[in-house]
Amino acid sequence: MFTLTVNASFSAAHFLRDYNGPCETMHGHNFRVEARVSGTELNEIGIVVDFKVIKKLLREVTERLDHKVLDQIPPFDTLNPTAENIARHIFDEVAPRVAEAGARLESVGVWETEGCGVVYTPGE
Ligand SMILES: [Zn+2]
Repeated sequence: MFTLTVNASFSAAHFLRDYNGPCETMHGHNFRVEARVSGTELNEIGIVVDFKVIKKLLREVTERLDHKVLDQIPPFDTLNPTAENIARHIFDEVAPRVAEAGARLESVGVWETEGCGVVYTPGE
């Protein structure tokens, strides 16, 4: 099996509801997103899926979050915009598009800072 890793980033503000600490106040991050895509078959030139294709699919979803106050846009107007929920949201949006492209989305990671990130893998 081959696992491809594709990165994207977006800048957004958020605040956490029902949270006691500095993150209850609005602040921003340059979020880094990492998608892992797997496949077993290589095409005639030896690739699973073109990186460009995955990058475009990931960007289509992250662009909707870019330069937004996450708490003001669905689903984060009702769902707390934690890194965990952001990772699952991006996963759920990107997974069917990756499947259409002939591969499988394994996980989505979201980093709020260089040192703090969450990786969402469904079913685990
Ligand atoms: Zn934050």
